[in-house]
Amino acid sequence: CGIVAYIGHREACPIILKGLHRLEYRGYDSAGVALLNGDLNVYKKKGKVSELESFIAEKDTHAHVGMGHTRWATHGEPNDTNAHPHYSTSERIAIIHNGIIENYAALKQHLTQQGHVFHSDTDTEVFVNLIEEIQKQNHCTLEEAVRLALHEVVGAYAIVVLSRDEPNQLIAARKGSPMVIGVGKDEFFIASDATPIIEYTNEVVYVNDYEIAIIRDGKLDIRSKEDVHQTPYIQHLEMEL
Ligand code: GLU
Repeated sequence: CGIVAYIGHREACPIILKGLHRLEYRGYDSAGVALLNGDLNVYKKKGKVSELESFIAEKDTHAHVGMGHTRWATHGEPNDTNAHPHYSTSERIAIIHNGIIENYAALKQHLTQQGHVFHSDTDTEVFVNLIEEIQKQNHCTLEEAVRLALHEVVGAYAIVVLSRDEPNQLIAARKGSPMVIGVGKDEFFIASDATPIIEYTNEVVYVNDYEIAIIRDGKLDIRSKEDVHQTPYIQHLEMEL
């Protein structure tokens, strides 16, 4: 339902939590964050963002790259395990996802045969394991694996993906679910709408269907599913002061 991600020089976790609060109006049943700081740590809870906040209060949340999600369950009941983010089997890749993967059952069967282990009842956990399997088979980058995975999933999605093997990077993609990127000074924000972003920057790029956004080394690259570079159209939002 709600997506927030951050990469830059500030502490990611407070920005993400604040952003999740701003997206609460959309409605949700659970919330979670993934933080990349050498390790890739996922914390998630059924219930309100404030419950997630108390849950992680004692944990080490130091990171400059991370993402958070508020879930509105479509596949699998609302509980801690079905909440996003979801790990791949190796726990090296994490995903947040808005939308529905319609062919998840067939993909899940196939991935199970290839040795992937599933903990949740969600369609989303299938998506991240598909990315991991493609990366393993093709010995390719995360970016390439995400792109190839998009050719195999049927449905609607806005996703953000993180990998502990490629730590200075956020990869996002969408089809049929909204996604906007905030372009700051040496920092970037991703969200399902501009409300979590406007207090930091008024320069935004609306991601189009079938586009992949790669944020790496302080740069934003937008590419088509066919791997063709797209010139990002930066819009200036009017900020209400
Ligand atoms: N289909 C996913 C799930 O049930 C994502 C739902 C959402 O958009 O929040 O976990």
